[in-house]
Amino acid sequence: MNITPPSELHKFLFEGLPVRGMLVRLTDAWQDMLRRREQAGSYPAPVRSLLGQMAAAGVLMQSNIKFNGALVLQVFGDGPVKLAVAEVQPDLAVRATAKVVGEVAEDAQLEAMLNVHGQGRCAITLDPKDKLPGQQPYQGVVPLHGDQREPLQQLSQVLEHYMLQSEQLDTRLILAANDEVAAGLLIQRLPVEGEGNIGGARNEDDIGLSEGFNRVAMLAATLTPEELLTLDAETVLHRLFWEEQVLRFEPLRGEDGPRFACTCSRERVGQMLRGLGREEVDDIIAEQGRVEISCDFCGAHYHFDTVDVGELFTPGQNHPPSSSAVQ
Ligand SMILES: [Zn+2]
Repeated sequence: MNITPPSELHKFLFEGLPVRGMLVRLTDAWQDMLRRREQAGSYPAPVRSLLGQMAAAGVLMQSNIKFNGALVLQVFGDGPVKLAVAEVQPDLAVRATAKVVGEVAEDAQLEAMLNVHGQGRCAITLDPKDKLPGQQPYQGVVPLHGDQREPLQQLSQVLEHYMLQSEQLDTRLILAANDEVAAGLLIQRLPVEGEGNIGGARNEDDIGLSEGFNRVAMLAATLTPEELLTLDAETVLHRLFWEEQVLRFEPLRGEDGPRFACTCSRERVGQMLRGLGREEVDDIIAEQGRVEISCDFCGAHYHFDTVDVGELFTPGQNHPPSSSAVQ
């Protein structure tokens, strides 16, 4: 098949069970992100796979919450990969980037890339679109190891931990990415009404409903990364859940679906320069003749010469530096 199918997000429920599911396939959106990176030097293959999985997971997590703001998935590493970021807007516009400073082995997994000294962290940030003055983004942080301090090798395991900790929701995630497709399947147990935070106070009905989730989660776990990458959504859902009553929603594609888009702009870069301060920016001009900034997410270049910098710091045009300026 030569024509790339569009990126898409499928949502579904299981009739009679407090379980919901989502399946995302990033195709053109993911290929676009990789292509934009080529000028600056492609990432090593394991980093490409990790970033693709983060982009897919970001879309699933953003779609899973009702929140008007960006969901930012970041992994801070202490190995050759210092940082990997995927950011998803409420309209499912997604962008991703990584900072790699050392050699990454062909077969490197999470530990070898990001958690060599056990200091790797995964942070999930919800950054509100219209922040009130002084309002801080919500952030949850989880380590890259399990309850027994065992290093986790898969991003999906780290995120399952996060969901259980932060939302108290049992979640199964299956993620995979190659250079054509970044895909993910999420299965989540919905909170049963009245269950709230009263741990242990589950009645028999709830136990039955947990069995429903466990059955669906076990079926989901039989999906291999190879199948997730190569089969279309219809085939995946049929193959896994043909004995279940799956209620499908209309898939989100195109303008309504996940796609690549970058939120960078000359104005936001200007805000960041103002945040640095006049002295710092003048130093760069003195050294290099002008300020050149490239966006790590989309590769766009921004130039500021002496005149531009003069305007940037002219009172009257001087908007207060925003804390939400470009990362
Ligand atoms: Zn950009």
